[in-house]
Amino acid sequence: MKNYLLLLSLGLSTLSFAQRDYSQVTIKAEKLSENIYVLFGAGGNMALVTGADQNYLIDDQFAPLSDKILFQIKSLNDKPLAYVLNTHWHGDHTGGNENLAKEGALIIASDRVYDRLKSGQQSARRNTPPAPLLTLPVISFSEQLNLRYREDAHIHGMHVNDAHTDGDSFYYFPEENVIHLGDNFFNGKYPFIDVDSGGDIDGLLSNLAMAAAMIDENTKIIPGHGAVGTLSDLKAYTHVLQTCVDLIKDLREEGMSIDEIIGAKPLAAWDDNFGDGFISPEAFIRSVYQTAD
Ligand SMILES: [Zn+2]
Repeated sequence: MKNYLLLLSLGLSTLSFAQRDYSQVTIKAEKLSENIYVLFGAGGNMALVTGADQNYLIDDQFAPLSDKILFQIKSLNDKPLAYVLNTHWHGDHTGGNENLAKEGALIIASDRVYDRLKSGQQSARRNTPPAPLLTLPVISFSEQLNLRYREDAHIHGMHVNDAHTDGDSFYYFPEENVIHLGDNFFNGKYPFIDVDSGGDIDGLLSNLAMAAAMIDENTKIIPGHGAVGTLSDLKAYTHVLQTCVDLIKDLREEGMSIDEIIGAKPLAAWDDNFGDGFISPEAFIRSVYQTAD
């Protein structure tokens, strides 16, 4: 039973969403800047960027939602969707790739997203078959990418340190003062360190610190999940995670086993607020115990 619950709490892309009724999902748009909306539906938060002649979409949730996403875009402007950029390979962020590629969009992501989608993953937590050709990025990058969507505005893609997975990218829109952090930022919830996909808590903390150093108090931060945040939200979140990680590392250094640490509930002060999302306190502790230096 315990293992089953752990699977449920960790199996984001295959288990938790498998039974979802997508007919009840609506795609909601919230304007963040002159040319950017955040789109909420089911799965990872999306950003819609409107260029001079075409649209750009960051992440695309699940395949059954593609028509609703396209309909929402059409209701905002009449330009075609030319590019989809993925923050990482998980199915709640890339599930629409194939449908949108069939509609003419070019898929872009880091090289590691290409590799992981192409090979799929069979693990205790996930059974994801190799992705069909149209799901795969046509353009991929190892470090950085600049995509100019207007004469004086660009998307700055950054493949960041191994954190949520080993293929995470941030997409920064400096002229609009907006940044999409993908699943490095679960606003207000414990993060998911996908160890099977190369995730690492130390990389997550350093990525969040890097993002905080790039932006200012007026920046709109799109998290992978949760409400749009600010620099102070990001700093408070990073502080909580760092405190939790330090507590777990101290207990690990004292020689406690993973089960003893979980039993001691070292994060009880935060569990009610941070532990009721995708990731339970136990799952978070396990991932820190396993990946923190
Ligand atoms: Zn994810």
